[in-house]
Parts: sequence; structure tokens; C-alpha cells
Amino acid sequence: MVTNSPHLAVVNSNTFEATKTVNLHHYDISSALQTTLEFNQLLNIFSNKIQNLLPHSGFIYSNPAFDLEIQNGIVTRNTCSYALKIEDLSLGELKLMRRQKFSAADMSLLETLLCCLIYPLKNATLYKQAINQAFTDPLTQTQNRTAFNDSVEREIYLARRSNKPLGLIFLDIDHFKAINDQFGHECGDIVLTSVAKWIRESIRNSDVVYRYGGEEFVVLLRETDAEGALLLAERIRRHIENHTLAYGMETLKLTASFGVSSLRDNDDIEHLLVRADQAMYRAKNSGRNRVVAG
Ligand code: GH3
Ligand code: MG
Ligand code: MG
Repeated sequence: MVTNSPHLAVVNSNTFEATKTVNLHHYDISSALQTTLEFNQLLNIFSNKIQNLLPHSGFIYSNPAFDLEIQNGIVTRNTCSYALKIEDLSLGELKLMRRQKFSAADMSLLETLLCCLIYPLKNATLYKQAINQAFTDPLTQTQNRTAFNDSVEREIYLARRSNKPLGLIFLDIDHFKAINDQFGHECGDIVLTSVAKWIRESIRNSDVVYRYGGEEFVVLLRETDAEGALLLAERIRRHIENHTLAYGMETLKLTASFGVSSLRDNDDIEHLLVRADQAMYRAKNSGRNRVVAG
């Protein structure tokens, strides 16, 4: 179903059937759209392919589920926007723009053309969902180690290219085994989920938290130097310390130990991580519940 807001228009299955017989344009557009699962490419191909049939100055595609906003061309006054949906799956919103007004006939044409975009967008959405799932730790909903390995190299490259610092925090929950042993694994899992939530509450949107191992988390800090990373680690440390977790009739106080590092010249991933990990062990050995610079 394709709905248009604020002017509601619906492309139902009859309309979809009708598109099969419209003309070769649909075949051409559909074939081109089958070549990719990338939202960016899909939207650009669609916009290019319909340009002759429905001239427009640009488009904006937004998909909040994936934090996506794709814009191409020129923003003009007259717009025509469609919330795209198939069954219960939201496929984002597409807004076409141009100088002249969109007539009812234009909109009707666009609605049939959008039918070519729906299934490729559905495939892109399912693909992205699968990728996201493969990169997410199911317990804490943070990114997992696979995701860390995938992004750390890119972050180092971007930091180098833009000559910006990159900070890393390695943290390990203190005496976690004792919590498991005393209160059971279910309680251990609640501790992990809670700590992940407290870390997320302490950081910026651009910082990403990863569950690196059992009770170990890594936070990657864009555009953050050693001093900034230390301050942030200290903020997370306090945030964890200031909470009390209720588990049944029990109350638990939790702490974690932190190692911090920042990107140096000629560093690779290994160096950056090992310095933070070693600093974390120094934090453990010097009494736990503290931050140590690596
Ligand atoms: P330290 O203060 O030195 O870090 O001590 P610790 O007990 O936290 O560290 P240790 O490495 O000895 O134990 C980590 C424990 O984490 C062992 C393992 O049973 C537990 N663990 C690892 N993954 C999970 C998980 O997914 N859920 C639960 N409940 N426990 C886990
Ligand atoms: Mg550990
Ligand atoms: Mg531990």
C-alpha cells in the first residue's frame, strides 16, 4: 500500500495489477532497481529512471527506523510526499520536489511508478534488518564484537583522514562472577542489561557502545581526545556507582573498572585496544571501580 500525506492516496492491489500492463517503463525501472539492496542507490536509480516521465528537481527520502535521510537535487516549493508501506512493514517516506505543482494526473502516475519501488525497498529493508541483527547483542541491545571489528577500522581511517582524535574506553564489570554465583545467571543478565543502559545514558549519540565479551564493554568515541575520553569514562563510572539494582528482595551495588586509550600516530586497532585493556587491568589491580589511562 502506498499512502500519500497530507493528500491521502492509496495504491491498492488493483492498481498494482494495473501497473503490470502499463508499459515497458515499469520493466526498465524494475530491472534497474533489482541491481542493489542499498537505499541510497535505490532512491537515486528510481529518481533518475522516472525523470523523463515525471520531471522533478529533487527528492528527500527518510526512514527513521534506520536513521536514514537521503536527499538529492534541489529543494523546491512544491512537494508531493508518500509514506511507503507494505503489509505492516514501514518503508520510509519519499518526497518529490519541483517548481510547478503536481497535478492529479502526475500524482496518479507517480503512484503507479512507486509500485516498482515497493518490493526493492522491502528487500533493502529486510536486508538492513538482518545486518543490524547480526551486529546487535541480543541481551543488551548494544552492538556486538562483530560490529566493533567492522567499524573500528573505518573509524580509525576517518579519524586519520579528518585529522580528528579518536578515543576508546574498555570497561569490565567488577566481581561479576560473584554476582552470577550468588544470585544466578538471570540476575547476571539483568546486571549486564542495566550496565549497558547506564553506559548509553552517559554518552553522546555519536559514541557507540559494544559488548566486547561476557561482562566487557567498549565505547568508541569519535572526535574525542585522551582527556575527553578520561572524563567520559569517569562519568560512566560514577553513573554505574550511583545506581542500586533491585533483584527480588536483594539490592545490589555495582561497579566497573575502566581503561582508556586514544589513537596515536602509527597505531593500529590492536595497539589502541591493547593499551585500553592493559589500563583496565591496572585499574583492577589498584582496587577496581576506577579509571586508568593507557
Ligand atoms: P573482576 O572484578 O576481576 O572482573 O572479576 P569478575 O568476576 O567480573 O571476572 P571474571 O572474568 O572472573 O568472570 C566473568 C564472569 O562473567 C564469568 C562468566 O560466568 C560471566 N559471564 C560471561 N558472559 C555472561 C553472560 O552472558 N551472562 C551471564 N549471566 N554471565 C556471563
Ligand atoms: Mg572480564
Ligand atoms: Mg569482570
